[in-house]
Amino acid sequence: MSSSSTLPALRTQPKAIFFTDFDGTITLHDSNDWMTDNLGFGAELRRKGNSDVLHGARTFRDSFQEMMDSVNTPFDRCIELLLQNVKLDPAFKEFCTWCAANNVPIVVLSGGMQPVIRALLAHLVGEKEVQDMQIVSNDVKAREGKNINEEGGWDIEFHDDSDFGHDKSLEIRPYAALKDRPVMFYAGDGVSDLSAAKETDLLFAKAGRDLVTYCEREKVPFTTFNDFSDIHKIVTDVVDGKMSVKDAATGKN
Ligand SMILES: [Mg+2]
Repeated sequence: MSSSSTLPALRTQPKAIFFTDFDGTITLHDSNDWMTDNLGFGAELRRKGNSDVLHGARTFRDSFQEMMDSVNTPFDRCIELLLQNVKLDPAFKEFCTWCAANNVPIVVLSGGMQPVIRALLAHLVGEKEVQDMQIVSNDVKAREGKNINEEGGWDIEFHDDSDFGHDKSLEIRPYAALKDRPVMFYAGDGVSDLSAAKETDLLFAKAGRDLVTYCEREKVPFTTFNDFSDIHKIVTDVVDGKMSVKDAATGKN
């Protein structure tokens, strides 16, 4: 049986677990999109790639690999530039503080790369808060005979063998299968979230982004958010028993 030893977010016996995407959800800009648009093959090809994934013409894994292959900038320089250019959702930090005080673990599930996520979160939220946060993501590796911090030196190391590169449902499903389990939330914005969209009790999809289009097409119940203050209010009401997850899934409004 699964237990808290294999499911880290159960360790404190929480009433709820908050799973979330990172890029474009916790941050205002997607760091991988930023690198592709500014250091790689540019926004036009990147948008075409995202649209192909959304419409099922190709896999997220292929499209993402191609995006990252177009970036030759040394990895340490990429992080430096991202720290200067990627901003955090203004209400995320307060939400983090509330979650910590109310025993709601935050689990970051990302198609991005671990060192980028850790660096941005430490910079934007704080070193201490990030230490306690579980982050499951893709990673970075050196290309053969190279160092990640030289020109053309790095490559993505995918989390698993799926077409998603990181199949986010793999992390969520063992929790969902438990008999007595916490309420499960997920927040996301785009094509990297398609694997997670159907797995939790309440899905927050960022207003105006690709994930909304997908949820409407696939009839996945969801509610939209503009920033983390919208999420904060609903999560508080659900955890306090003032609102059911079913009532909260109001779709696009
Ligand atoms: Mg995203």
